[in-house]
Amino acid sequence: MQEFAVINRFFTNLGPETQEVVKALGDDCALLQMNAQELLAISVDTSVAGRHFPVQADPWAIGWRCLAIAMSDLAAMGARPVGFTLAITVPEINSAWLSEFSQGLQALAQQLNCSLIGGDTTQGPLSLTVQVHGAVQKGINWRRSSAQAGDKIVLIGKVGLASLGLERMLQTPELAKRRQAWLNPEQAYMLPKPLIQEALSLVDAAIKVRAAIDISDGLLADLQHILTASNLGAVLDLAQIPIPEELLAVYTPEQALAACLNAGDDYALLLTLPATEVSLVASLIKDFALIGECVIGTGITDAQGQVITPSGYQHFIS
Ligand code: ADP
Ligand code: MG
Repeated sequence: MQEFAVINRFFTNLGPETQEVVKALGDDCALLQMNAQELLAISVDTSVAGRHFPVQADPWAIGWRCLAIAMSDLAAMGARPVGFTLAITVPEINSAWLSEFSQGLQALAQQLNCSLIGGDTTQGPLSLTVQVHGAVQKGINWRRSSAQAGDKIVLIGKVGLASLGLERMLQTPELAKRRQAWLNPEQAYMLPKPLIQEALSLVDAAIKVRAAIDISDGLLADLQHILTASNLGAVLDLAQIPIPEELLAVYTPEQALAACLNAGDDYALLLTLPATEVSLVASLIKDFALIGECVIGTGITDAQGQVITPSGYQHFIS
């Protein structure tokens, strides 16, 4: 099979038809209808085999995952997905692999009501680059730099679980191939859910989110990005960090908390917002936790004033 046959067979008509996409694949560029009430949000992420996912991992999940992690950045900006491109590098044309991969992509594209609008297909070590395009309503400004002292810090989604999934798949490489055998931790790592719907529900409810970020590197590390950009410190109430029971089953409580604070790959969201907005957010979002507050100063402390530094918890792929 040749490059164009691959594109026709596996990457054409992937995702629903939407009104923004005037022309998808098949020309030199995709064409999107722009509108004056929205800004275009763009972000790109590359997933490299052996670095961002196990080489032999289930291809359906690889498809889902490479799109999910890119879409998570749109969620963190309050953007509605309108289309994505895929630059795929594969060592060989393996129809069974490509078919599963494209079905994983398709499943998430349908869920997000967003389609594949173009890309590039090349030969080499397995690598996937997904660029996402989203529409942000004017007036929505979820910048890392716009947190204010006194803002509450809210966590949406789960943290810590993906690191356990990755640890298990590295211990038992066969497990990465068997999607049907995955429990919550493996699913958290390989099949993360970008929190687009949650983010858009806050936009629709006109919640005054000040700053936002998705947690790809770890809760503390990503919170620090907001704090640095906004020139602030934070006080965290560690008792409010939701620790998944799966972690408590295999780690000490201290190790489990350290995983929640420092491990990446869960693609939860951190928001800062005025205290008056918190109860409405809590009523709109299922996986919600009020975990702290932004303060004048630098660094992160716990409720007792102890400085919280990233602990010895080790991520397994660096
Ligand atoms: P060009 O040479 O003009 O850059 P290509 O020959 O690389 O275009 O691709 C032909 C068409 O197929 C383009 O519309 C391109 O966006 C699309 N395409 C190529 N690879 C992919 C892919 N992996 N996924 C989606 N669309 C793709
Ligand atoms: Mg061209």
